[in-house]
Amino acid sequence: MSNIIDGKLVSAAVKERVANEVKALNNQGVSVCLAVILVGSDPASQIYVANKKKACEQLGIVSKEFLLPETATQDELLSLIDKLNCDESVNGILCQLPLPKTLDEKAVIAAIDPNKDVDAFHPINVGKIMIGDYDFLPCTPAGVMEMLSYYNIDVCGKECVVIGRSNIVGKPMSMLLLHKNGTVTTAHSRTKNLAEVTRRADILVAAVGIAKFVKADMVKDGAVVIDVGMNRADGKLCGDVDFEAVSQKASFITPVPGGVGPMTIATLMQNTLTAAKRQNNLI
Ligand code: NAP
Repeated sequence: MSNIIDGKLVSAAVKERVANEVKALNNQGVSVCLAVILVGSDPASQIYVANKKKACEQLGIVSKEFLLPETATQDELLSLIDKLNCDESVNGILCQLPLPKTLDEKAVIAAIDPNKDVDAFHPINVGKIMIGDYDFLPCTPAGVMEMLSYYNIDVCGKECVVIGRSNIVGKPMSMLLLHKNGTVTTAHSRTKNLAEVTRRADILVAAVGIAKFVKADMVKDGAVVIDVGMNRADGKLCGDVDFEAVSQKASFITPVPGGVGPMTIATLMQNTLTAAKRQNNLI
């Protein structure tokens, strides 16, 4: 049976660190503020936005919410972003994705000031992640790295396999593992003999979006298994890994819920703090 990597525990440690720093900044007269934009009324997005607001409140970060209707135009959204870019009281800007199909997501991401882009989705920040010289951490992958570090799981020289190559999870995840000197393979839907590839992994990260996709026969004995997936199956939240079976083989494993999810928000809070420090010339 595996050791459980407890995302609630690790995220609480990160949040405590951030809260202490926010308090110290407040004592110097510097406030920290995150602006969150939500377009439309997608129920999952509403939950994510509510969780981010709650985390801000817990940590002493001011949160400003901007709710636009499903019918909002590209111009309306871009002019709001422009206003927030210019607003010195706002340190971080996050536009909750996905946007309604009528809006151009790429243009919206590119419109956010890279210095306030706490999701690290702007092409400038993506490029910085690529070269390993970054201010903003990609939230979910950085959360995974924080968990590995907390549990003293060394990446150097290990075979790392990431299933998934999305811009928000898979690609930056592979890059962060590479920066820590892992030998990284990025697998995807066209990968041949996937189970053969995943069985090589000392560290296996699943970011596929298919419930219980990773079965026990895809995992090497003693592997570290990180489950990024957040899927709904039979009305319940469930990961990309068949937890019951895989936890019999893995040395460490993240549960869903209570694994990677809380880490994503903790990193977002960390990024908002970093933005405030940079904008106040404190780093
Ligand atoms: P995505 O954009 O849909 O990407 C899924 C990736 O999985 C793609 O690269 C796809 O390959 C690959 N894939 C799909 N079917 C496959 C198959 N049969 N074999 C191998 N690879 C396959 O999803 P995402 O945004 O990266 O998210 C992945 C999961 O993580 C979702 O469950 C999402 O909800 C979750 N998530 C969680 C958090 C968190 O905070 N915990 C944050 C973000 C996302 P192709 O590129 O070839 O299509």
